[in-house]
Amino acid sequence: MINKFIRRLFGGAQAAPSNTSPLVLGSKQHAINPSLLSSNAVRVTNTLQQAGFKAFVVGGAVRDLLLGIKPKDFDVATNATPEEVKRLFRRAFIIGRRFQIVHVIFGQELIEVTTFRGSAMEGALKDEHGRVLRDNTFGEQHEDAVRRDFTINAMYYDPSTQTVLDYHGGIADIKNKTLRIIGVPEARYREDPVRMLRVVRFAAKLNFKIAAETRKPISVMAPLINNVPSARVFDEMLKLLMSGHAMACLRQLREEGLHHGLLPLLDVVLEQPLGEKFVTLALSNTDERIRQGKPVSPGFLFAALLWHQVLEKWQAYQAAGELTIPALHLAADDVLDGQAEQLALQRRITSDMRDIWAMQPRFLRRVGRSPYKLLEHPRLRAGYDFLLLRCASGEIEEELGTWWTSFMLADEEDREILMNTQQTSLAPSSANKKRRRRTHRPRQKNMSPESNS
Ligand code: ATP
Ligand code: MG
Repeated sequence: MINKFIRRLFGGAQAAPSNTSPLVLGSKQHAINPSLLSSNAVRVTNTLQQAGFKAFVVGGAVRDLLLGIKPKDFDVATNATPEEVKRLFRRAFIIGRRFQIVHVIFGQELIEVTTFRGSAMEGALKDEHGRVLRDNTFGEQHEDAVRRDFTINAMYYDPSTQTVLDYHGGIADIKNKTLRIIGVPEARYREDPVRMLRVVRFAAKLNFKIAAETRKPISVMAPLINNVPSARVFDEMLKLLMSGHAMACLRQLREEGLHHGLLPLLDVVLEQPLGEKFVTLALSNTDERIRQGKPVSPGFLFAALLWHQVLEKWQAYQAAGELTIPALHLAADDVLDGQAEQLALQRRITSDMRDIWAMQPRFLRRVGRSPYKLLEHPRLRAGYDFLLLRCASGEIEEELGTWWTSFMLADEEDREILMNTQQTSLAPSSANKKRRRRTHRPRQKNMSPESNS
């Protein structure tokens, strides 16, 4: 019904990007459930409005509200300048160089407040490929709307009147489950190539199709991502991998030709038969955890994505005569160095990755004090989860994972027994109840402590 109404108004979802008067929907039409709103976001819009400014919830939060999904965070758009916003809140910080925004903090929650951006792009500072480097001009709401990426991300919601303002046919595209970039797709990707990754993420996450015109230039323009600072690519990759739909995102990236050459990490992940099973398991595990609201560590995720590269080099160093542990460290260095140029993994993350990898040979040492020492390792849980993934993927014998599950759960006395009965079948574990699959371990033989120490 709304659909028809909109089509009559705008001639379909193709509302002209220069629209200055939005489609206005009341609560009956948009049916947003106000209980999905963050009370802090409402506090921010109320405070700004009481001070005489315009203020709206904007972007992904409105999109999610319209889809009946609880937004994970809230952005607010206003005509107040960053300075004016800052003055109204006790804990507010102006951040950012490219675009100044204000972080308003309430306990654990952060509300991002942006001033409406102007449309005067001609003056903006760009790099030689046309990527916008800096522009901080303020403008009207309709100008702000044109600057947003997709029609479904360019709607404004006023909690006090419960109205939605839609400048670019976003409502229609929500109904049609379509991702459509605002303006001329080629120009928008050139301004900011990261939008190509965003469209893929949203399509996979929301299960939306990508409008033909929005999709068409991507395969040709994909290499532009190479000019984007690696820290920004990393941020976007992390969002993609932590979206709860990582597998779907990676599949879609592949379909759009976005994984080739420009993201070596993904080349490795998706084109390596050996590691494919491992990576698939790791990502579906991650997706599952995220959907259950459990925490996921980026270190674990990237450790998994790069594991088979490490494994290959680890074996090569051992074949060349290095001992198990030094060989593993050399392999880790190689892989992390090779990755560094394209993907800026923060030190905090690489140190987690190293910890998780370095723990793996220690799980093989089931003699003397070694297993007891490992129990005290601060990252034992992550290392152990990683071990179970290796078992489940068939890389190593399930028995090792089962043994560790039992060992970790056991009391002192049972641990002694376990130490003495290592190789026999042990008490059933939660990780391994279902089946005992036949696994092969020819590649692992030279890694066992028995043959290496
Ligand atoms: P998510 O669910 O991932 O948070 P989101 O749409 O809220 O999705 P954000 O990165 O939080 O994404 O951005 C908030 C809003 O800012 C977007 O909805 C969009 O309107 C605008 N935006 C973000 N990135 C861009 C971009 N690269 N180009 C244009 N507009 C953007
Ligand atoms: Mg957001």
